[in-house]
Amino acid sequence: MRKQIVAGNWKMNTTPEQGIELVKEIMKNIGHACTSVNYIVCPPYTHLSEVAKITCGTAIQVGAQNCAEEAKGAYTGEVSAEMIASLGVHYVILGHSERRQYYGETSATLNKRMRQAYANGLVPIYCVGETLEERESGKLWDVVKAQIEEVIFELTADEFRHAIIAYEPVWAIGTGKVASADQAQEMHAFIRKTLAVKFKDAATQTPILYGGSVKPDNAKEIFAKEDVDGGLIGGASLKAEDFMGIGKGFN
Ligand code: PEP
Repeated sequence: MRKQIVAGNWKMNTTPEQGIELVKEIMKNIGHACTSVNYIVCPPYTHLSEVAKITCGTAIQVGAQNCAEEAKGAYTGEVSAEMIASLGVHYVILGHSERRQYYGETSATLNKRMRQAYANGLVPIYCVGETLEERESGKLWDVVKAQIEEVIFELTADEFRHAIIAYEPVWAIGTGKVASADQAQEMHAFIRKTLAVKFKDAATQTPILYGGSVKPDNAKEIFAKEDVDGGLIGGASLKAEDFMGIGKGFN
């Protein structure tokens, strides 16, 4: 039985005050929610500490949206994995398409971030996914396979056992265009098969999340698919009611 996960990526949204209000609202609702679902919130760096403190001992866990490639030193503006882990944060999103697209992250830089995450006990939520052009030209399989092989295949078997993968077709992020449940399942099954080439049976236990315009009204159909273990949620994670409504998609 794989973990069921609903993770919220708040991106560059909410002030600390708004973020705390949002997480309190989520906490109020969680008492009524399905307890088998693991809820993770990923606020901006500025309120990681407060959100980690407020949620400590609750069913909500906290993740960062990135971490630095290096351990410490003269890297102005960067935040290290050690700093993040010291706040009681357990997860880190790596390889989000916005980071790849706007900040030039590549497999080489992501491998360094992965090293830092594992060295500090953070669980990576590693994002993969193709652009619309790559899908339409039939390159989607090669693109996603390379994103997995170049980064996840660099992990040890022990590290891999803790990893979470998120399949996020770039064309579905923040666009309102959602992949059909069948399209999601097809890619998730492909990702699991690719992972199994190196990690064999352990791949059957890896949570693979779908991300891209998931909302309370489409979550159920997507989460019902065999290889979909939950969602990485952007826009809809900014409203407690919608975020929790997505969690109900497992019922
Ligand atoms: C995301 O950015 O990870 C995401 C899935 O965004 P949205 O849900 O807004 O499409």
